Amino acid sequence: MSTVAPDLRSFLREIERDSPGCLLRIADEVPLDHSATALAVALEKQGRLPILLFEKVKGYEFRVLANVCASREILARSIGAHHNAFNRRFGECLSALVPAKRMSAGPVHDLLWEGETADLTRLPIPRHFQQDGGPYITAGMVAARDPDTGVGNLAFIRLQVKGPRTLGASLHSRQHTWDYLRRAEKAGRDLPVAVVVGAHPAVMLAAAAKTGIDQDEYELAGALLGQPLEICRARTVDVDIPAQAEIVIEGVLLANRHEPEGPFAEYTGYVSGRSTNNVLQVTAITLRKDAYYVDIVPGNSSEHLTLGRVAKEAWVHQRMKETLPFFTDFFYPSSGTHYHCYVRIEKTEEGQALLAAQLLVALDHYVKLVVVVDQDIDPRDQDSVLWAVATRMQADRDVAILSGSLCNALDPSSENGVGAKMLIDATKPSGFDAERIVLPDDACKFADTLLARHASTSGSHPGDW
Ligand code: MN
Repeated sequence: MSTVAPDLRSFLREIERDSPGCLLRIADEVPLDHSATALAVALEKQGRLPILLFEKVKGYEFRVLANVCASREILARSIGAHHNAFNRRFGECLSALVPAKRMSAGPVHDLLWEGETADLTRLPIPRHFQQDGGPYITAGMVAARDPDTGVGNLAFIRLQVKGPRTLGASLHSRQHTWDYLRRAEKAGRDLPVAVVVGAHPAVMLAAAAKTGIDQDEYELAGALLGQPLEICRARTVDVDIPAQAEIVIEGVLLANRHEPEGPFAEYTGYVSGRSTNNVLQVTAITLRKDAYYVDIVPGNSSEHLTLGRVAKEAWVHQRMKETLPFFTDFFYPSSGTHYHCYVRIEKTEEGQALLAAQLLVALDHYVKLVVVVDQDIDPRDQDSVLWAVATRMQADRDVAILSGSLCNALDPSSENGVGAKMLIDATKPSGFDAERIVLPDDACKFADTLLARHASTSGSHPGDW
């Protein structure tokens, strides 16, 4: 166990030391609006998901980080999991929580902006996509306490800048924060909150998870970190915050106040106007010295999709594993937003592929297309999955369609959240005797060596990303 509390900065140092290709520093001065989003989208088209560190943003003193949670490999590293073992490790942590460690203070209180100086426009809060209603805090983890039990909650909530001390908030997924506010309103009170921007990725993963209402997400963060998360009290509200957080915006979600919020670029890749139209009034802002501002790339970016799905995916993975011994792995490609899943099985009998697909759509009702592949196909490699569809599947024999099933209401092609599921068996049928072509091992090694030498002489490391 480390003696220094792990935080965002220690994590960035680790990444730069161990895999410098996973962190892209942008030294050029960039305009605030759209830059991080555009760069992340352009890199993702090349299959690259590095953390982005903007050292100079025009008009601001702050360094801006984006895409911190875009790559599964980087996230796996952040929770001490081996490559491709993210789901297993995350699943274990969900049932092995570690209580937080209370501190009297922390570096998060290095600087205090109060009164007139608590001004959101001093922070580099960008616009993302063209149709967004304004600048948005997308990496804001809203910490609050259950008004009845006092249990803590931490959840990502999109926050639109409406004024120097006013944020629009949408609690449209109607989870714990929404429930807290509803109960605070019944008692005629505002809900005190602290918006955490910038923390170790394990804290971000915990905030993205859906734990029980009586479980504090800081305890999941502790499990993911492998040691208790250090927390302290915020300055103007009775809410706990990570002591090593970069920036914390303190305030209240106003009872029974509604103002227009949105629209916003959602994970479907379409504009969404769905909002609960809540208002957050800021009371103070505290910061570390030389604080990083953290941005999450919204829309259907890898980062937004991964964070939105991570806890559910670990849960579904566990259920699949314990129910079907022949299930080995799955992957949700970003091209399918939350709606497509590629499932890998070690097939020993006919019918297993369809069974695996049926269980998957039963466990995750967002999914509308499942492709089941054999063990020799990597579900992370979409070309390989589609090659299996091309060469092992016949539509009249291997496709099953289930009509009138519950799906996700944000799917614009659904009818009020009802749609069809397509289950494709792209495993080798019985009697399949085609032989896959292979290269000799030493020939592959020769090619890898040649490419590695070429990459080092040209100064780029495409393989690192
Ligand atoms: Mn919760």
